[in-house]
Amino acid sequence: MKEKKISIYPGTFDPITLGHIDIIHRASKIFDEVIVTLAINPSKTPLFSTDERLMMIHDAIDDFENVRVVEFDGLLVDFAQKNSAKVIIRGLRAISDFEFEFQMALMNRKLANEITTVFLMPNEKYTYLNSTVVKNVTKFNGNVDSFVTKLVATELTKKFNSR
Ligand code: ADP
Repeated sequence: MKEKKISIYPGTFDPITLGHIDIIHRASKIFDEVIVTLAINPSKTPLFSTDERLMMIHDAIDDFENVRVVEFDGLLVDFAQKNSAKVIIRGLRAISDFEFEFQMALMNRKLANEITTVFLMPNEKYTYLNSTVVKNVTKFNGNVDSFVTKLVATELTKKFNSR
């Protein structure tokens, strides 16, 4: 039987944006399975808790049959190996992403040579979008409806109103 092509898409997703979803959509058409990997990164202090981020990702990937989400802390290549994933997906928006991504991809290759990092480019309308921009716009009551799902927009408003 042919081996299933499994990929993982790691990130902080604080919160998930339409840019992330664009990448997930592209990956889901290339790979048999995509595992969105929610990184519990101790060096970052996210606005949303792990459960909140998971809930927003679940809602966003509901329509994709071959995509699931898992939370994870530890070494990414260990997680990939345990899940028989040979590919790490990352999004590349601009040159500014390159240096960090390049370093991480080469480090992961050094740690696990059989795992390949694949970069996907989102639709150009999402190239300037990231989770920080979305949080900043909401903080000052700007409208983020064209950057995030309805649920994420509601959760963002709730979060800033409760502060
Ligand atoms: P991390 O802390 O791992 O960078 P993020 O949630 O910020 O987590 O990003 C996860 C991945 O999604 C990264 O590869 C990032 O480049 C990519 N990404 C983030 N925003 C976008 C976007 N608007 N379009 C395409 N890719 C994106």
